[in-house]
Amino acid sequence: MSDCIFCKIVNKEIPAKLVFENDFALAFEDINPVAKVHILLIPKVHYNSIADVSDEVLIGKLILLANKIANDHKLDNGYRMIINKGDDGGQTVHHLHIHIIGGRFMKWPPG
Ligand code: 5GP
Ligand code: ZN
Repeated sequence: MSDCIFCKIVNKEIPAKLVFENDFALAFEDINPVAKVHILLIPKVHYNSIADVSDEVLIGKLILLANKIANDHKLDNGYRMIINKGDDGGQTVHHLHIHIIGGRFMKWPPG
């Protein structure tokens, strides 16, 4: 997707603070963090949203990777993984991403 900002980050066309990269995924710091740790984990392949993925292996790998990234950032006291989908879900970037957020207490339910 040539006009997708996260594809541009994958292709190193725009900069990001990378925290992890392998053959199928990339993780980088959110440009507008809402907590001490706020990382976005994305598949390198473009999917508009979680609803467009049928590859359960990919989703499984991404979630396990999110745990690893949280552990690497010493979020022993807890963290949140969030996937926003669509307008009501608050999705603003239409390339599937998992938010990994931690470093402070978070309320429930979300706003
Ligand atoms: P969403 O609202 O779609 O779930 O989350 C999109 C996230 O991407 C937001 O938290 C926003 O701050 C982040 N974001 C948007 N544009 C950029 C960018 O160019 N670079 C980085 N690192 N994060 C971005
Ligand atoms: Zn994309």
